[in-house]
Amino acid sequence: MKKIAIIAHDGKKPEMVNFLNKNLDRLKKVELVATGTTGTHVKNTGLKVEKKLSGPIGGDAQIAGMAAEKKLAMILFFRDPLGKHPHEPDVQMLMRICDVHNIPIATNPATAQLLIDAFFED
Ligand code: PGA
Repeated sequence: MKKIAIIAHDGKKPEMVNFLNKNLDRLKKVELVATGTTGTHVKNTGLKVEKKLSGPIGGDAQIAGMAAEKKLAMILFFRDPLGKHPHEPDVQMLMRICDVHNIPIATNPATAQLLIDAFFED
């Protein structure tokens, strides 16, 4: 089963947790993978999740690797467009890899909801 990856910048973690709580019943049915700190928040909602490294030390790059290996159904990336991030090159790389391999990637909660709604349709 392909996994759903979740990444949230610090400024967007509360919105990410709200999103998870709203979609808990559906997300329980799939395998999740997340960057380190995001993964801890995911776990706290009661969902099971595979945790990778924290984003700034390589977690985004690990998620990109999984995307390149076609192990992901989609990436839900709660980006903070107003913050500065030391790992911005990794973020750009992740989005490029998704475009190379045609992997759906949401970069805000509205798109994340549309992707999840489509994924669980019928
Ligand atoms: P984090 O990383 O889940 O370890 O906070 C997310 C990111 O900033 O890419």
